Amino acid sequence: MVCIAVLGCGLLGVKIAGEMAYHGHKVKLYDSNLTALNAVYDKIEEDKEWMKSEGLLSNNTFIGQIYCLSRLEDAVKHADFVFEAVVDDLPIKQDLFERVTQCCPPNCIVATNTLRLDITAIVERATNKERTVGLRFLYPVYYIPEVEITPGGFTSGKTIETVRQVLENMGKTLFFRSGSEPLVLSEEQREERKKACIGRLKENCGVDYVFSGNLPELGHRASIGSGINYDQTNSNMSDADRDCAICMDRTRDCLLCPCHHMVTCTECAKSLLNRRDGCPICRTDITEMIRVYHS
Ligand SMILES: [Zn+2]
Ligand SMILES: [Zn+2]
Repeated sequence: MVCIAVLGCGLLGVKIAGEMAYHGHKVKLYDSNLTALNAVYDKIEEDKEWMKSEGLLSNNTFIGQIYCLSRLEDAVKHADFVFEAVVDDLPIKQDLFERVTQCCPPNCIVATNTLRLDITAIVERATNKERTVGLRFLYPVYYIPEVEITPGGFTSGKTIETVRQVLENMGKTLFFRSGSEPLVLSEEQREERKKACIGRLKENCGVDYVFSGNLPELGHRASIGSGINYDQTNSNMSDADRDCAICMDRTRDCLLCPCHHMVTCTECAKSLLNRRDGCPICRTDITEMIRVYHS
């Protein structure tokens, strides 16, 4: 499990987050646009339903969890990887790279999903530029193995090697751009890759097979409005998930109301409540919190 931050919850950002969670990574999705951030939960649920109906998801849910956070620092401060997928605008990306590389761990790899901008220009004001790189996922990300890698002028060999290992473990293949035009898959090419992915899952060598062991059931999820309800589909929580999703330091000990998601410690829940932020899972407005005492 790798701790991943995805910046920007547009069309591609949400799919990247979903794909990472599908493969069991812990994902923190950041956007400063709250309307877009609040819509993520429903979009991911739609993706799961669609993948289930297509035979691309043999369990009911993704293995990893996605947390939607409105503060950049909360999203990146413990990340191993940051995937930036905001609008393709140089000043916006330069600004984001400067801020992100200041508050993420020093060896965290920070990748941009740019289509046409110059990587070296994007990272101009970044710190530790050797861990920055261009990585472009092809829509719709799920079941598309190809990921385009573009080293910038400062990208180190170690960065490329780490990226390669993590992505290959997810069944991805890195390629370098040939010529000046970016690769865009046709409808037929996407369809082909989808069929190949369904075929692999049927042969039981897909991701669902690898992770099919029983994980401890600590998940606590409620459907909104119907009180507390243990939902089988979202209960595959590992030891790492006992830590607060925001500070990743203290234990989760607090139910957010009215949605009843238990993902934060009391301190972080107070901070969310004070700044009228939403639940990191479903983005429902928090009205109160209930302290939970572990035996
Ligand atoms: Zn916390
Ligand atoms: Zn919630």
